[in-house]
Amino acid sequence: MPACKTPDWVRDALNERRAHNLLRRVRPITPPQSTHVSIAGENFVSFCSNDYLGLANHPDLKQVMADAAIKWGVGSGASHLVTGHLDIHVELETALSDWLGFERILLFSTGYMANLAVVSALGSKQRPVVMDKLNHASLIDGARLSEAPFRRYLHNDIDSAAKLMQRFDSPGVLATDGVFSMDGDVAPVAELAQLARQNNWLFVVDDAHGLGCIGEDGRGVLAEQGCTAEDVPFLVGTFGKAFGVAGAFVACSEDMANYLTQFARPYIYTTAMPPAVAATVLASLEIIRSSEGYARRARLADNIAMFRERAKRWPFDVMFSNSAIQPILIGDSALAMRVSKQLESARILCTAIRPPTVPPNTARLRVTLSAEHSPADVMHLCDTLDLIFNDECK
Ligand SMILES: *Cc1c(COP(=O)(O)O)cnc(C)c1O
Repeated sequence: MPACKTPDWVRDALNERRAHNLLRRVRPITPPQSTHVSIAGENFVSFCSNDYLGLANHPDLKQVMADAAIKWGVGSGASHLVTGHLDIHVELETALSDWLGFERILLFSTGYMANLAVVSALGSKQRPVVMDKLNHASLIDGARLSEAPFRRYLHNDIDSAAKLMQRFDSPGVLATDGVFSMDGDVAPVAELAQLARQNNWLFVVDDAHGLGCIGEDGRGVLAEQGCTAEDVPFLVGTFGKAFGVAGAFVACSEDMANYLTQFARPYIYTTAMPPAVAATVLASLEIIRSSEGYARRARLADNIAMFRERAKRWPFDVMFSNSAIQPILIGDSALAMRVSKQLESARILCTAIRPPTVPPNTARLRVTLSAEHSPADVMHLCDTLDLIFNDECK
């Protein structure tokens, strides 16, 4: 195949990553995405997807998507502001408003873009952005795009957040993940909301990993901490995780939604999500709010409890988390890779997460649990880790 000559700086950057055991690569999984997946014809139990409720391969949702595609076609054809804003989008927005208690919802094709949109439109040279050090990359990139003065406070540390905010003369934007994607712990959202309100700052919560999984009715970290749209004026959620589909939203007030519609470039200059995706997300929301959703959350909680009980005997800490994300803190990148490879030899998939995704010397195995894992699946993972850790720590 013809290819351009690789510049030295590209080769050097790749070699540098390789030398530190940090080279990232993709590999194809044979669909469907599930707790049991196949790679090149071999079967694995997977503990690394974000399909926390096991909805990505749900028979009813598959039917909804197929039917919607037959009825409405496969593409939305344009951006929301041109002719891409369809009835089914409005229906989904209304259902989300009703579920979460926000005046308005804006839909996005990915959570990455939702975060870029909200932070880049709210931050500016006059309105600084302050956020948790461990926030998702898309919130950080939103701040960069805004050209706002930008500071990050110590993880989940209210005093550190308050100190950084006080350094600025004018109010700005405070942002945090709800459930942190690489640690699985939860932000003190109620306290941060109070801090933001006292200082007249806007407040953004990205609850990509909490929505659907925690809080009453699966309404995430806001419900869990008794917060409403008054405390948290901007809530970002995604449909690619617990919802099992794809896409994202920003929930906010009527005026703020109008503002974002004028000024948030990642909302304006992109094609609206396909109608079949919107229909499937809507059906997924119905499951999440139903007794089936409740039962799935209960099964997930049982798996988490079982895993954490077994983890007590390991020589590595499992990070403090009651969410589906249960990282085992290994520290050394090479060791984390070795454990991940040994799990793979035992037909278990569990990704090692290494710097720069996480801070130096905090390489970890990011175990994610799903309602779809059987107790036997979780036991199998724990038994195998017993053996590997015994061997590695002799
Ligand atoms: C996954 C994730 C996103 C990005 O969502 P996508 O829909 O996958 O682009 C944003 N924020 C957090 C905290 C996430 O974990």
